[in-house]
Amino acid sequence: MTRENTKTIKAGTLSIGGVSPVSVQSMCSTKTEDIDATLAQIEALIRAGCDIVRLAVPNEKAAKALPEIRKNCKIPLVADIHFDYKLALAAIDAGFDKIRINPGNIGSEERVRLVASACRANNVPIRIGVNSGSLEKDLLEKYGPSPRALCESAMRHVRLLEDANFDDICISIKSSDVANTVAAYRMMSEMTNYPLHLGVTESGTPYMGIIKSSAGIGSLLMDGIGSTIRVSLTADPVEEVKAGIAILKATGIRKDGVNIISCPTCGRTNIDLIGTSLKVEELLKDIKLPITVAVMGCIVNGPGEAKHADYGLAGGEGEGILFKKGQIVRKVPEERLAEALFELIMQEEKGD
Ligand code: SF4
Repeated sequence: MTRENTKTIKAGTLSIGGVSPVSVQSMCSTKTEDIDATLAQIEALIRAGCDIVRLAVPNEKAAKALPEIRKNCKIPLVADIHFDYKLALAAIDAGFDKIRINPGNIGSEERVRLVASACRANNVPIRIGVNSGSLEKDLLEKYGPSPRALCESAMRHVRLLEDANFDDICISIKSSDVANTVAAYRMMSEMTNYPLHLGVTESGTPYMGIIKSSAGIGSLLMDGIGSTIRVSLTADPVEEVKAGIAILKATGIRKDGVNIISCPTCGRTNIDLIGTSLKVEELLKDIKLPITVAVMGCIVNGPGEAKHADYGLAGGEGEGILFKKGQIVRKVPEERLAEALFELIMQEEKGD
């Protein structure tokens, strides 16, 4: 079951699944009851390009803040709830757009029915979120912490909702092990047509966390699996959004925004290419044009190696050249290279 063939669900204004664009989500790290701090973090996430934001709702105090938060921001919001069905009902009442809850953990069939019918009445989908760390004992005994156990666990929760006549569902089955995560999602995509929310859980601090998430989420996206993604990092959640967007760009799923390619440098490099490429990246970070920009270390090979790029620069001795589709445009002193490339792109793209 590839992405395009899944069911489509709607969290507020955001469509997830089917032919909808793959969305990027993150989760606030603030205390939800601290309304100002939470709204400020939601704003920062929106600015970074986040499509949907999740908030932890661990208790009554957090639940009481939800109406005010919902009223004061525009992005679709997800309430993350463990165990307490009353908190789920409060989030639905507050106008939240999606609930993350595992129906098998909320007590009785009656409670599942109550949550399902409140969601149905308000067009609120439910994400079932299974993690390797919280698998049921009998599944662990039978299958170990394996992809099969994750999928079976998710399907138990799915069946509970389906029995309550509810199928506005999205599923995640995250493991902290990349290979297990990938195998589990591949298996799940064969078992169901509900949209899948991808992520590698507890992936760590930014360096390894982004590598693990890129390997896991990236592999699945390239298999055509996954309708929405969250990169989990032990970091400011804004970094999760940036990494998520970068994964979508690197896998070719999101085409807007500049794709920067740069050479690894070698003994032929005579300019500060690392500094120059960082400067180019910074200057172009808010540009939405779907262009490829090359930052190359030497004039001899750079323009040729990067002739597929729309624009580029290549370093010489104390100066460099700008090029467009492999053709030299002009020479520029080294210290002006990044800015001159930015100006060239702006001029040319405005003129087109
Ligand atoms: S473009 Fe030039 S400097 Fe960069 S790796 Fe290739 S040969 Fe080396």
